[in-house]
Order: sequence, then C-alpha cells, then structure tokens
Amino acid sequence: MKKTPIIALIGNPNSGKSSLFNQLTGLRQKVGNFPSVTVEKKSGPLMLEGQTEATVVDLPGLYSLYPKALDEQVVIDILANPHHEDYPDVVVVVADASNLKRNLLIFTQVADLGLPVVLALNMLDVAEDKNLQVNAVKLAMKLNVPVVRINARVGEGLDNLKKAIVQTLEKPTSFQKYYFDPAEQFPELIKEVKKSSQLANNYLALHYVQQHDIFSFLSTEKRVGFDKLIEKYDFKESGFQAAETMHRYAVIDGLVKESVKTTDNFLVKPLWTQRLDNILLHPFWGYAVFFLVLLTIFQAVFTLASYPMDMIDAGIASFNDWLKETLPPGLFTDLLTDGLVAGIGGVVIFIPQIAFLFLLVALLEESGYMARVMVIMDKLMRRFGLNGKSVVPLISGVACAVPAIMSARSIGNRKERLLTILVTPLMSCSARLPIFTILIALVVPATPVLGFFTLQGLTLMGLYLLGLLSALLSAWVIKGWVANTEKGYFVMEMPTYKVPRWYHVGLAVWDSVKSFVTEAGKIIVAISIILWVLATYGPGDSIEKAEEQVKQENPMLQGTELDNAIAAQKLENSYAGHFGKFIEPAIAPLGYDWKIGIALLASFAAREVFVGTMSTIYSIGSEADEDNGTIKARMRAEINPKTGKPMYTPALAFSLLIFYVFAMMCMSTIATVYRETHGWKWPLIQLAYMTVLAYGLAFLTYQLLS
Ligand code: GDP
Ligand code: MG
Repeated sequence: MKKTPIIALIGNPNSGKSSLFNQLTGLRQKVGNFPSVTVEKKSGPLMLEGQTEATVVDLPGLYSLYPKALDEQVVIDILANPHHEDYPDVVVVVADASNLKRNLLIFTQVADLGLPVVLALNMLDVAEDKNLQVNAVKLAMKLNVPVVRINARVGEGLDNLKKAIVQTLEKPTSFQKYYFDPAEQFPELIKEVKKSSQLANNYLALHYVQQHDIFSFLSTEKRVGFDKLIEKYDFKESGFQAAETMHRYAVIDGLVKESVKTTDNFLVKPLWTQRLDNILLHPFWGYAVFFLVLLTIFQAVFTLASYPMDMIDAGIASFNDWLKETLPPGLFTDLLTDGLVAGIGGVVIFIPQIAFLFLLVALLEESGYMARVMVIMDKLMRRFGLNGKSVVPLISGVACAVPAIMSARSIGNRKERLLTILVTPLMSCSARLPIFTILIALVVPATPVLGFFTLQGLTLMGLYLLGLLSALLSAWVIKGWVANTEKGYFVMEMPTYKVPRWYHVGLAVWDSVKSFVTEAGKIIVAISIILWVLATYGPGDSIEKAEEQVKQENPMLQGTELDNAIAAQKLENSYAGHFGKFIEPAIAPLGYDWKIGIALLASFAAREVFVGTMSTIYSIGSEADEDNGTIKARMRAEINPKTGKPMYTPALAFSLLIFYVFAMMCMSTIATVYRETHGWKWPLIQLAYMTVLAYGLAFLTYQLLS
C-alpha cells in the first residue's frame, strides 16, 4: 500500500491556513489575525472518507514562490523536491476571497508546477462585507480545478473540501497549459535543465535555475552547474522574475474580472474600518491609544489578578500548615512542605496574572489591532535598525523569548533579523512577571492614580517599557557593528477587524498557562528539592553545632525567637549558605545578601525559579508561625541583620527589579539563539552584554536609592 497521502496548505499570509489546519486535524496550531504567525511547517492527521488517513501540512504563508524571508524558503524547498517527506499529493491553496487577485498569484504558480491543486475560497464573509460576490463555479471552470467555498474560522464547507481532496487524489485533473511558460523565451535553457535534472515540468525547471541556491537537496556541484548555465544563456534572474509576475497578474486580472462582481465600487473598506484606522494609525492618536491600551493591560494584570492570587497564596499557606500538623514531624515532612509545596506554590500563584496578560494580548491579536500597532511602530523601529515585523518577536517576547526569537524568521533582511534576535530577550517575559509583581507589591504602595490606575500598575508598566526601551537602544547601539548586505523593506497588509474567536483566545491563554506551569514547574520542582537538600545539610557537623552557637551568642533568646534564630543559623551553616556567602562579596554592591545570592544562582538556569527559591529559603530560615505563611509575608518580615530594619527596602527591591529586567537568566533562550544564528558567537555576546547591563544598572540603582 502507498504511504498516507500528504495534503499541503499553501496560501498568502493571514488567509486562514492555520485555522483550516486546526479545523481539519483538531489540533491547535497558533492562529492570529496578522501575517507571519506560522514560521514552521506543522503536520497533523486528517480522516478522509472511507477511513483513508491523510497528513495535512500547514506551511508558512507566502505571496509568491520566490521567498523573501527564511520562513518562506521551506515551501519551495518542499515543492521542488519530489523526494521530500512532505512533498504533497494534493495542494490546497487557501485564498482570501476578499482579495482574490493577490491570492491567485501563488495559485497559478503552484498549478504551473503541475501539482494537483484544490482551491479553497476562504473569507467569503469578509468579501461580502466589501460587497464582493465571488462566483466559485465560474472560477472552477476557468481554472480547471475544484474550487470549494469554506469558512476556516467556523469550519464551514469542510465536507466539500474533503470530497474535492479525495477526488483529486483519485483522479487529478490533467495538466492543460501553463499560465506562464518560461520555455517560450528560453527554450534551450529550460530543455537543458530538464534533461540534466530529469524534470518533466518547464516551470519547475525555471525554479531550479532561479532558486538553486536555497534548495537544500542540491549538491554544491549541481549549484555551480546552474550558475554556469545562467551565464551561458545570459539569463537575467530578477528581471525575468519581475516579467513573470507581471504576466501572471495580467492573466489573473482577466480571471477576476469574470468571476468577481462588485456591487459597489466605492466601499472597498467598510466605513467604520476606515474611521477606526484613521484614529489607530494616526501619527499622534495612534501612539496615544496604544499607550493607553498598554497601561490598561498592566493595570488589569495587577488589580484583577490580585483577588485570585491572594486566595491561592493563602490557600497554599494553610495547606502547608495543615500538612505540617498532620504529618509526623521529620525530614520527609520538611522536604514536602518547605521544599516541594513552597516551591510549587511559587509557580501556581502566578497563573492568574499570566492568564490575564495573555487573555488581553490574544484579544489584541485576534481583533486585528496588533497589525495596526506593527504599522505605526515601523517608522520607530526603523530608526533603531529594526523592522516593522520586529514588533511580532518583541511583543511575543512578553510571553517567552524562545518562540519570539523563532518568529523573527519572517524578517527578510539578515541584519534586521539578527538585531531583533539579539534584543528580544530584553523584553520582559512572563517568567519575570512573578519577580516584578512580588517586589513591587513589597515596596510600592497601591496609591490610586487617575481613578482606575494605581502606582503599582504604573511601576509594572514602567518596567515593561524599560525593557522595550533598552531593547530599542541596544539595537541602535549594535546596529553599527553588524554589516548590512541587503536592503530592508516592510510590506504589511492590513487585516480586517474581526470579533475575536473565544475558542482561539481561550486556547492562547490555556497554552501559555500550561507551558508556564509545565516548563517552569519541572525546573522549579527539581531546583526546590535540590535546594532544600543543600539548605538542610552542611559540611561536617556544622548543622548540629548551629543550636549551640546561637545559645552561646544570644543566651537571652527564648521560644519562637530562639527557634527562628536557630533555623537561620542552620541555613547559614548549610551548603547553600556557604555557597551564598561565597558570592556575597560580588553582589554586596548591588545590595544583595547571601540569601538572595542563593536565589540568583538557582535562577541562573531560568528566572522563574527566583520566587520559588526565595520562598523555599525563607521558609527554611524561619519557623512558620501563623501570619508568616505567605511568601509576601515572609519577605516582608525578613530583617536585615546589619541594620535591624526590614531587608526589603525600596533600594534593594528596585536593584533586584532592574537586575531582572536586564539579566539573561535563561538557558532555553541561549540555546535558541545558538540554533537560530548557527553558532556560539551571538549568544555569548548577548549573554555578556546583558549581564554587564544588569550588574551595572542594578549597582547604580542601589547606590542612588540608598
Ligand atoms: P494563516 O496566516 O493563513 O495561518 O491564517 P490564520 O489561520 O492564522 O487566520 C488569520 C485570521 O483570519 C484569524 O484571526 C482567523 O480567525 C481569521 N479567519 C480565518 N478564516 C476566516 C474566515 O473564513 N472568515 C473570517 N472572517 N475570518 C477568518
Ligand atoms: Mg498560519
């Protein structure tokens, strides 16, 4: 039996491919209402009729088979290579019916490759809003392929689409004629290529001539061979490509005229879309609205999320107390309560904030507003050597730098892409959020500002803006050091405004919470246990001696105070304590003591560990009494032994905040930058400059504030 057939989804960015993919496979590929959401191919199973299983492959969007950016190259690399594991048996070209002319370009190219094609007409509802009537039957007759009307957003027309796929698999429509035949102008060249590479298709042969450099499956000798051919026939690559595109558009123009009717020529955009765009893209009001939107988001993260957070915090504290009372006292109970539960509590408590943040960001993405933000930011970005498309990585960086850095693949210009990768980790990711909020809540009062906002919300936004600002400034500084070989450009098409789909928004929230809990959770649990061991045991009999030591030094202490002092001394004498003391001299200028030193070290692998570590350390360092249970309360109760005053002064808290704004405490990001830049040079440079920034600015902050 033949292997399962491959169905590839190809089409313009934002035409609905990933939505269709999700509908067909039941999987959850990320969908967003702006171009270049998908940067990697993704496959999933599809049940066709009669229990035939097929594999659907969702591909990055592209306007033409000549790729402009890295993410688009994968498409032609597959289509030009019949031996590729994803080489399609049927291509479904997903076309935005409200913009048919531009969407048909890629259709004619795929059809010219001789691939069996089904045309899926999507966004018909949008077309209707623009007063466009698309005649699918006429189009099918003209194009000589099955044309199916679908709505990928709600899943209409899927049965017909599947039928068309099966029909095409069983009996592909025979190839009739090229929309554009390169052999008309270069018969000898095409003939020679077809012979030497054993190709049957003229247009495929043309792509071997035009794009052999990016074909991963060709040997170097073959590539050199093509270069010689180009010289021999005096073939002008870019000129010919332009001529091809012009020719195709001329053909498509005729097709569209016959199959699309406009009931009203004037209303290309609905009036309210235009009105909204006039404001949101306005050189002043656009920024003002964006600023207000940001402010509202951060305030909501603070205010609304604080209710569930307080509940979780208190719940975990009382659960821990209950465990301590119920279980027999001993090492195991300590490990469970002070190590594990305290550490896990440090993760769980931040779920409401992360969920809120991503709920709001997903709403912006789905509604189409994010695309407007990219446009107004392009001018600004350019000044710093970046590109309007850098906004996507930068904004995704607020969630996590790892997928954000990968999404930079959609930036065509090599230099702008590299700069974007280098500065994206400065955007405050969700792992920083817990650190920010807990420290802000400790030292910044919740004073109301302008009614709805509070000082805490403003401070939080300030930290995020600081991240953004430093990302832009770093790009501007590094810009001078990276050679530029290509010209950058920014083409971005405005998607229509759409009512967000709650299902997609829900998924986005669920995914971010899930990955925070599982990814961060794994590390945090592991580190909490290791840390508990390191904080409970010490070299030689130093732990046992702690009690004597305290009693000798402070003979007056009694009761809880004595217990606390002994616990603190034990921690100091432990392995972790020695560790912290060892690095204390290096971090003392920033205002940190050895306990914070332990947390810094532990969070080097991933910053989300910081709060969990603090909570483990402080629960070991002090015997929990009633109102001392929550992390915040423990941090608030921490006394600086040198001054006798609370440890967490504004100077210390801000010094830590600044440190975490800049420090590259994340192994996964380093690994991702290594992968995306193919070497250690850039990740190491990035690690170095971020560390220097973090240390230097935290130092300044502490010295200035104290
Ligand atoms: P891709 O870039 O081609 O993968 O497109 P996506 O699947 O990410 O979809 C882009 C946006 O279009 C999302 O906001 C979808 O919800 C929306 N969308 C997809 N299909 C339709 C449709 O038929 N009608 C409307 N109105 N919106 C759609
Ligand atoms: Mg997509």
